[in-house]
Amino acid sequence: MRTESVQIQNFIDGQFVQPIGGKYLDNIEPATGKPYSQVPDSDDRDVDLAVAAAERAFADWSKKPAAERSTILLRIADLIERDLEKFARAESIDTGKPLSLARFLDIPRAASNFRFFATAILHTESEAHITDGVAFNYTLRQPRGIAGLISPWNLPLYLLSWKIAPAIAVGNTAIAKPSELTPMTAFMLCEIAHEAGLPNGVLNVVHGTGPNVGAAITAHPKINTISFTGGTVTGRKVAEACAPFFKKVSLELGGKNPNIIFADADLDAAIAGSVRSSFANQGQICLCGSRVFVERSAYKDFVERFIDKASQLKLGDPLDEKTEQGAIVNKAQLEKIKFYVDLGQKEGGKIALGGSAPEPPNERCREGYFFQPTVITGLPVSCRTNRDEIFGPVVTITPFDNEDEVINCANDVEYGLSSSVWTQNLNRAHRVAEKINTGTVWVNCWLVRDLRVPFGGMKASGLGREGGEEALRFFTEPKNICIAK
Ligand code: NAP
Repeated sequence: MRTESVQIQNFIDGQFVQPIGGKYLDNIEPATGKPYSQVPDSDDRDVDLAVAAAERAFADWSKKPAAERSTILLRIADLIERDLEKFARAESIDTGKPLSLARFLDIPRAASNFRFFATAILHTESEAHITDGVAFNYTLRQPRGIAGLISPWNLPLYLLSWKIAPAIAVGNTAIAKPSELTPMTAFMLCEIAHEAGLPNGVLNVVHGTGPNVGAAITAHPKINTISFTGGTVTGRKVAEACAPFFKKVSLELGGKNPNIIFADADLDAAIAGSVRSSFANQGQICLCGSRVFVERSAYKDFVERFIDKASQLKLGDPLDEKTEQGAIVNKAQLEKIKFYVDLGQKEGGKIALGGSAPEPPNERCREGYFFQPTVITGLPVSCRTNRDEIFGPVVTITPFDNEDEVINCANDVEYGLSSSVWTQNLNRAHRVAEKINTGTVWVNCWLVRDLRVPFGGMKASGLGREGGEEALRFFTEPKNICIAK
């Protein structure tokens, strides 16, 4: 499929269709700042159509043997891998991320998501409980119906497939809404789903804005399950919209993740891991470590070597094979980053690296949205720059004196998504990991993902868990059947 200049369509009931209102939005390429395709500006009428299709498809799909559903999902995974280069290029153009990152991370992981849930449904177990001499109970887990799946722009195919795969694997039908900023790979996925033999109406994709399409999905009475990934402010709106209907909701929200480096850490590994966790995807991964805390005795050495390594990251045209830092997703996000870098200085911080937009990497990218990897030091822990989610290539580095102090600092934000702890002291690693209030704690690593583990955030970082067994449970309804003896 050509992606440049293409007019993206909704995918409803197995067909590519125009939005009922006939309206489209420009899809801007972040690296150039120019439109390169168009995306439907759909509304509640398109969501209604998708719901009707999903409702019709549910009757057959939910009754298909797991093995048949599994075969189709495995085919989807194979086809994503067949078209890996096309997907990676589309994702790079759509998001501004380096082509190499899309090729090695996002797209292979999207294929893994389908493969993982395709095989997981072949190995599920169900509980039985014997109530003394009185009764025998067993739990029947049934698909819930129509799932609404809403995802953000930072890892578009990866995060959408992380929802679509478990939702349809267990027998639901789905209505997915990718971010209007990054719709291309979801569009391509529909073509692949069709080719893989996914029955019409099982997966429907309605493109458009959050207020029009996202809100119509969360408010639709026939969509009883909502899996949402995005910002905390939007997550709150989603929760409010779902509450009157008692919808089952999963919310994967923002983060302000701490990296904690003790003086006894393997500093080479901690620096390499922290540079990666600060600047991967231009810092636009919910799991990025944006607050680095370093034990005072190692602080000076760490900062110098961190800056040296970060300054070597090659910023460039995302389509250039050598690029390690691509573009920021849009102008609004770029402005937000600039705002926080200014604020950081007003709050007393010193720009130790970066701090501004670079020269455009080439003529093609003259109007693109770029920002240098930026390090701010000398900030108080409690300032806004250290508390608000910036979601860009901006990291603060702060010294600490002892374990209790750094645990307090790490926990003293509204978020609780992930953290990383760097130490060679095994007891300390366990002790600190237990006390940090985040859904994931990485010790001496970052972004190591096992699809079987529960994934999600604490506090304002979310509600519920995705991943493995948790996702299979989320998308099914447990029914207890109690048989008297
Ligand atoms: P966002 O603005 O909250 O948008 C997320 C999705 O929600 C988009 O598809 C958006 O549509 C849609 N939306 C907006 N308003 C809505 C409404 N009223 N009802 C229903 N849907 C609505 O987030 P973003 O800026 O795309 O993504 C960045 C955020 O996602 C960051 O905070 C990041 O930490 C978080 N994130 C979290 C995780 C995690 O696993 N915890 C993973 C990745 C990202 P449009 O954008 O098309 O308008």
